[in-house]
Amino acid sequence: MGLTEWLKQYARALGFDLVGVAPVQSPPHADSFLLWLAQGYAGTMEYLERTAHLRINPAELLPDARSALVVGLNYAPAELPNTDYRIARYALGDDYHAIIREKLETLLGSLQAIEPSAQGRVCVDSAPVLERDLALLAGLGWYGKNTCLINTHRGSYFFLGVLLLTLELEYDSPAQGGCGTCRLCIDACPTGALVEPYRLDARRCISYLTIERRDSIPTEYRAAIGEWLFGCDICQEVCPFNRPRAHQPLRAQPTTEPRLQPRPLPTLTEILQMDEAEFAERFRGSAIKRTKWRGLVRNALIVAGNKRDPALRSLIERFLNHEDPVLREAAEWAIQRLTVAPTRDHPASIQS
Ligand code: SF4
Ligand code: SF4
Repeated sequence: MGLTEWLKQYARALGFDLVGVAPVQSPPHADSFLLWLAQGYAGTMEYLERTAHLRINPAELLPDARSALVVGLNYAPAELPNTDYRIARYALGDDYHAIIREKLETLLGSLQAIEPSAQGRVCVDSAPVLERDLALLAGLGWYGKNTCLINTHRGSYFFLGVLLLTLELEYDSPAQGGCGTCRLCIDACPTGALVEPYRLDARRCISYLTIERRDSIPTEYRAAIGEWLFGCDICQEVCPFNRPRAHQPLRAQPTTEPRLQPRPLPTLTEILQMDEAEFAERFRGSAIKRTKWRGLVRNALIVAGNKRDPALRSLIERFLNHEDPVLREAAEWAIQRLTVAPTRDHPASIQS
């Protein structure tokens, strides 16, 4: 068995659902990425701009990098948790960064045991490589109009990881596929964040607003956030490639990775009662900790306002005099939502 096939089989044995190999080169969508940044669509994610030169030159991350082994790890849950709010599927289990990094480091260590001269670097979000472009080149999937990478047989509920290697491996062909005339995701996006096919204005996206944005969420998007406490899956939920068919049974099939199984989640009431120490304890090892306590409570206040549940009023009111202006203002907004009757302009909640 050649080295490329050995690596692929090992990657599958480690639990990766998709694996392919691409040459290390400037990503095909580098110009589009730079234009997207220049147009301000990244919002306050300044780190994307800061690291752009590394993202478009992955070889800078590992001198003499020749090959990128790209892996996909399915995160689709068997069923959604029974909560009084919504969480993006990818955040239901343990934080994927550690899981993918550990597996790829195991793979690299085993490779170096048989090829001591091989150098490698593991990239999972933290190393600023354009994983999706490398995944496209490695045959894992193609870009959907919702900007997700879509695998025709599996859909889009998978994480990506990259192992850059100095070895010359056998490269896969780029993935073929496309959305055709479908535009379900664009029409379903509650905030109009998919401003055109393949173009996401992150500043409007519920994922960005609830996870990346640190200060107040602009009022014009709050009703559309509905019950999304952390992230949003709407543009993936409506995608036909995430619907199993008789001839495509693997689409959105539940993950078999034990650490990606849904963790127990607190109720909205419990989140609104949680202090910072409880938050740290509860979400240790979870992607949800990215919002920090303040971000999650801010989101919980918005969800509480959208639920218009009078039982939540006293919990919301506790934040009306909070020292943090972001939480104070979110609480004021939520109380107003409880008080004002829903109209067509102010729907009670916009759901997927
Ligand atoms: S994640 Fe939600 S808000 Fe963001 S583009 Fe998709 S549907 Fe729109
Ligand atoms: S919903 Fe339709 S347009 Fe959007 S990504 Fe899926 S196939 Fe493409």
